[in-house]
Amino acid sequence: MASTAFDYSQWPPSLTDDQIGALTQHATTYVLSHGLTYLPPSATQPPSPSSVIHAPISLLPSPIPRSLFERAQQLQSSYNILYARVAMDDDFLDKVMGAVEGVGKADEFVGTLWRGWKAIRDEGIVQARLQPLHLGLFRSDYLLHTGGEDGTISLKQVEFNTISSSFGPLSERAAAMHRYLYALTNYYGVLPWLKSENFPLNDTTARLAEGLAEAHKAYGVPGAYVLFVVQPNERNVFDQRWLEYELLEKHFICVVRQTFEELASSATLDADTRILRLAIAPALSLSGSESSLEISTVYFRAGYVPSDYPTTTHYATRFTLERSRAIKCPTIPLQLAGGKKVQEFLSRPGVVEQFIRDTDARDIVTGAKDLRETWMSMWSLDDPNPPVAPADHAIQQCTDEPRGTTYARALADSLVLKPQREGGGNNVYKQDIPPFLETLPMQDREAWIAMQLILPPQGVGSYLIRAGGSTPGGNKTVRSETVSELGIFGWALFSCETGVRERGDAGWLVRTKGVESNEGGVAAGFSVLDSVVLVDR
Ligand code: ADP
Ligand code: MG
Repeated sequence: MASTAFDYSQWPPSLTDDQIGALTQHATTYVLSHGLTYLPPSATQPPSPSSVIHAPISLLPSPIPRSLFERAQQLQSSYNILYARVAMDDDFLDKVMGAVEGVGKADEFVGTLWRGWKAIRDEGIVQARLQPLHLGLFRSDYLLHTGGEDGTISLKQVEFNTISSSFGPLSERAAAMHRYLYALTNYYGVLPWLKSENFPLNDTTARLAEGLAEAHKAYGVPGAYVLFVVQPNERNVFDQRWLEYELLEKHFICVVRQTFEELASSATLDADTRILRLAIAPALSLSGSESSLEISTVYFRAGYVPSDYPTTTHYATRFTLERSRAIKCPTIPLQLAGGKKVQEFLSRPGVVEQFIRDTDARDIVTGAKDLRETWMSMWSLDDPNPPVAPADHAIQQCTDEPRGTTYARALADSLVLKPQREGGGNNVYKQDIPPFLETLPMQDREAWIAMQLILPPQGVGSYLIRAGGSTPGGNKTVRSETVSELGIFGWALFSCETGVRERGDAGWLVRTKGVESNEGGVAAGFSVLDSVVLVDR
């Protein structure tokens, strides 16, 4: 351990151009040979790819205080249980996300998913008995926050993902790449923190595959397949393939990949048993002779954005899968539980306490109070009486004050507005908020929440390498001032009858972006894959 406390302004350590050049060559060669890759951009992906490019990466890991990293891992079990319980509470989801009382009134996408789920529930109790289990592969995202009292740094949650929580396997490989660079070069001895005991293990691939394998086992038909529902022309296939390889090699479970479009003609449900089968070309089956596959588990890597459902048939296909006996990762209610509106609702007085109770202390280290400590203030845009202190009526003020007044501008600077969307690029930040609110019809406000901005450490930097192929003539490593977002994975297999079987701390992810960008998506092109170096302050 270094004898002096870590100071963020020391980061990144200085490297010479030659050192940067050598590290860049080692890093890009390593990640290309270890599958930290994407398919190259192209309008349509060939069925059998012939080339790859590497993902955007950072040359150095990013410093995270050891105590906060450990805290984030401890919190994960509580978050797994919290979101499992939210997903099992139909009344709560109807109220918050439904199309009669909740967000689904104002948001067509949420409303359509909710109506499909409601119709299935109305078909009767039989459905619930056929498959009561839900599987969640989760990721809780955090930024470090410097805005607290006495200058301490704390951990604040950005969002909680319940569908298509991606970049687990690729982030494991980003961590391995940084360990490799350290083993090879000792990072030229530039900082005492860069040493092996400060590089935490990352075993995300094995842990996430374990969640899928537990669901498959619970389904109880060893020869059944796991279905990955994927987007057409997906470029981030390797992040998904690593999970497939792990399922086959460690658990002897086969995966079949299909888009909603393909499933519309291949998927059938048995009328009595609701067993989900896919018609396939025999060459695609294990034996080479089967023409239909029974599906144990449906893992969605699509279906979280409206553009995944260009026609009503796409929604109908989603509902067919939901109605089936296969275990869904996630079910529609679990997807709805990941809505930003749920996050805001949980933060209201007494709400999270209905889901995480004192009696849970036997099983989980962190309670409702600890979860609350990770939250920024959040508001509903349509609530005439926000249940928060008057000084926090920021949204009210932004809306009421004439645009551009000093007060409204100052308030807007501390906020982000979020709709019920995933995948990046949807939020409205700071000074864009007042003009945006002026054009947002009253009836649409319910679809949005406002969140106080997290203030990450300033003056921190990193060396970033863009995705392969994006710089003509080779890679250029750029030193930038950066913000890093930590994601902690976890999974839960649960039902009202069996309760929650879960695994907290199923690995982690760091994405780093330049400070000039508000957003943080890797696939959306805003940030790079990174890893952690633990530091003590
Ligand atoms: P999405 O579902 O699109 O990923 P997020 O809630 O994760 O939505 O927001 C996208 C990005 O916006 C985050 O990765 C983060 O960089 C930034 N962001 C979101 N909320 C905040 C916040 N409260 N403070 C600072 N940055 C935020
Ligand atoms: Mg996000």
